[in-house]
Amino acid sequence: MASRKAQQRLLRICHWSKAPYQCGPATRRYFSVNYPSLQSYSSSLSDSYYNEEQLQMQATVAKIIENDINPFVDEWEAKEEFPAHQVFKKLGDAGLLGIDKSPDYGGLGLSYKYMAAVMEELGTVKCNGLSMAILVQMAMTSQALQRFGSDELKKEFLVPSISGDYVACIGVSEPGAGSDVGNIQTKAVRKGDDLIINGQKMWITNSLQADWMCLLANTSDGNKYKNKSLICVPMNSKGITKQKIHKIGNHCSDTGIIFFEDVKVPAKNIIGDVGAGFFYQMLQFQEERLAACAGMLKQVDLILSDTIDYTRQRKAFGKSILDNQYVYFRLAELASENECLRALTYKTIDMFVDGQDVTRLASMAKLKAGRLVREVTDTCLQFWGGMGYTREASVSRYFRDLRLLSIGGGADEIMLEIIAKLMNISPASPTKK
Ligand SMILES: Cc1cc2nc3c(=O)[nH]c(=O)nc-3n(C[C@H](O)[C@H](O)[C@H](O)COP(=O)(O)OP(=O)(O)OC[C@H]3O[C@@H](n4cnc5c(N)ncnc54)[C@H](O)[C@@H]3O)c2cc1C
Repeated sequence: MASRKAQQRLLRICHWSKAPYQCGPATRRYFSVNYPSLQSYSSSLSDSYYNEEQLQMQATVAKIIENDINPFVDEWEAKEEFPAHQVFKKLGDAGLLGIDKSPDYGGLGLSYKYMAAVMEELGTVKCNGLSMAILVQMAMTSQALQRFGSDELKKEFLVPSISGDYVACIGVSEPGAGSDVGNIQTKAVRKGDDLIINGQKMWITNSLQADWMCLLANTSDGNKYKNKSLICVPMNSKGITKQKIHKIGNHCSDTGIIFFEDVKVPAKNIIGDVGAGFFYQMLQFQEERLAACAGMLKQVDLILSDTIDYTRQRKAFGKSILDNQYVYFRLAELASENECLRALTYKTIDMFVDGQDVTRLASMAKLKAGRLVREVTDTCLQFWGGMGYTREASVSRYFRDLRLLSIGGGADEIMLEIIAKLMNISPASPTKK
């Protein structure tokens, strides 16, 4: 019987060999590419970090990706849509959507490290749009609901999100406030036992197919950090309209503008304390940022691996492109950087699981991840030459998709501001003289 490592490698090899390089006729005329069927590079850190159970979970995820996701990614990317209910149900049936959620509501009650193992494996999905949509469902929409929501709200929204029957989205950003979360304008005004919601949310992942939104809205006037609440809003409520946003990458992930016009929801749909929404959302952001970091590690490994394979077989001036010292030195350097980021991400996850405040380290990891994927995709695309500039090359999809990491979930500059504040060197640092 093959060892687990060998089996995993076999799975990966099967996965890539079933996805042979395909190019359109115009490209085929100019290039003759033997697309790689082997994975040439993988991390030496990840297998030693995760325990047996976590590796088993990764193997389950790998199977679902191989059978139910990757064969369809190109089609979904072209359609700019994927069947969220179908994919999430598959993941829900496998127990993967409630890993860190309470067993009382259908979750597995495991630590965030198990989530990280799954999120890292999701990096082998052949586009970021889909893995991002799954991460939103798993790690960004119901952390506050799990922690602070009433039993009734959890039964109504958390249980079906964990089982994969409901698609969830998180509504924080607005046309006039993305980085500046405190300045959002959407209002939820109390009227008897109800809230009447008016406003707009923008850039909302999963929103066009979502069954409910975890909405951040102003529930009173006054101090902008104390006047907001998180509210569970059914997306079929009267007064909600949606508009699709077309993006340069992450095509299959649906992103929408959501309009609220006198939308009525019960006031009991507020998660936890009225006015504590900003604080709850800041807590949710920590997990979102860790999820984003864990989710990109294997993507970078795969980009490097594809680039090694492509440049190894592509010849110029009588030798492989890879045989130029500049090329293999750069690839070695980028692989080293990704292992450094992996080590930081793993350490931060361990500290988070331990109950420590990881705001500074999670912000550092998110900053580094955003910058590294830009460097990796830009450098690797260059090494693919003209082929890298085609839609068919895997590297060009990652180049478009991963550019988002420096913007979404808190832009690089916001991460720098948080880090500087906590280093006590920003004018906004609470204790700076
Ligand atoms: C594809 C996609 C999916 C998304 N999904 C979601 C989602 O599901 N839910 C959700 O709520 N939001 C989502 N977002 C929104 C995302 O979080 C915001 O785009 C992000 O927070 C930046 O906000 P903004 O776009 O309004 O940029 P702005 O706030 O207008 O900032 C523009 C730029 O200004 C610079 N900047 C801003 N503040 C500072 C500062 N203090 N110092 C220096 N420079 C600064 C940064 O470079 C920043 O990129 C998504 C966005 C995209 C593109």
